[in-house]
Amino acid sequence: MKKSPKTIEAEMRSLLYDFRRYFEQRKEEGIERLESAAPGVPGRPRLSSRPAPAGKPVPPSTPVSRPPSGPAPASEAPPPAARPASRPAADSREIYRRLLDELRDCRRCPLAGTRKNTVPGEGGNRRRVLFIGEGPGRDEDLSGRPFVGRSGKLLDKILASISLAREDIYITNIVKCRPPGNRDPEPAEVIACWPYLETQIKLLRPRLIVTLGLPAARTLLESTDSLGRIRGRFHDYKGVPLLATYHPAYILRSYTVETRKKAWEDIKMVRDFLAGSRK
Ligand code: URA
Repeated sequence: MKKSPKTIEAEMRSLLYDFRRYFEQRKEEGIERLESAAPGVPGRPRLSSRPAPAGKPVPPSTPVSRPPSGPAPASEAPPPAARPASRPAADSREIYRRLLDELRDCRRCPLAGTRKNTVPGEGGNRRRVLFIGEGPGRDEDLSGRPFVGRSGKLLDKILASISLAREDIYITNIVKCRPPGNRDPEPAEVIACWPYLETQIKLLRPRLIVTLGLPAARTLLESTDSLGRIRGRFHDYKGVPLLATYHPAYILRSYTVETRKKAWEDIKMVRDFLAGSRK
């Protein structure tokens, strides 16, 4: 019998849950050892996934060489707060560098076939706030940098309204390659990309995570709720407070007083959190 889209989505979400459980098991051991890459790319280190426990699938990783052209984006700079207490800064920088290396060549999902550039994420992370969007759009795909298009311009204004600049935050997406036509990322693409985001979170050690839009909120919170139900309160992502708000693209699409009022309420919660929490 043909499966309904809802059944397929439920199955993919359950798969994502399994993946997350699996990577969670590795949490206590830090970011995993680095090992040489797939056969045929000798000596090239990559962020490894341990051999899967029986029955657990592992996303494929078959790096191929495709370095971006042009000047190094800000994302090449290691984020300043990238250091769990037990890990020396040099280790964190090295892990981050290798993450960028592996990502540049990533072939973990079909988006590799249509992207122009991978978009790892960037920012100074001065205030240790991590913003997570959905996936690169056209401008981001062309430039290799997150939130540089119309959504990014609005995001800049939203940040400025609470005295934050891009250098204060780190910003990335749940998938690092552009989904064709700016569609929502497929669950399988989110699963394939998840280890990158998980590693970034570990390295950045954010004191606040802000998700932009429904796919990011659902992925981090493993929820199927609507954004209306998720937003407006703090959640917990592995001990880190998480606030879910609207994606700037949605605000632009639905530019009503009501939407803007809710978005402003959310961003004020970010402002108040930062004003009240330890620096
Ligand atoms: N929308 C996103 O979700 N991410 C970007 O980087 C750009 C637009």
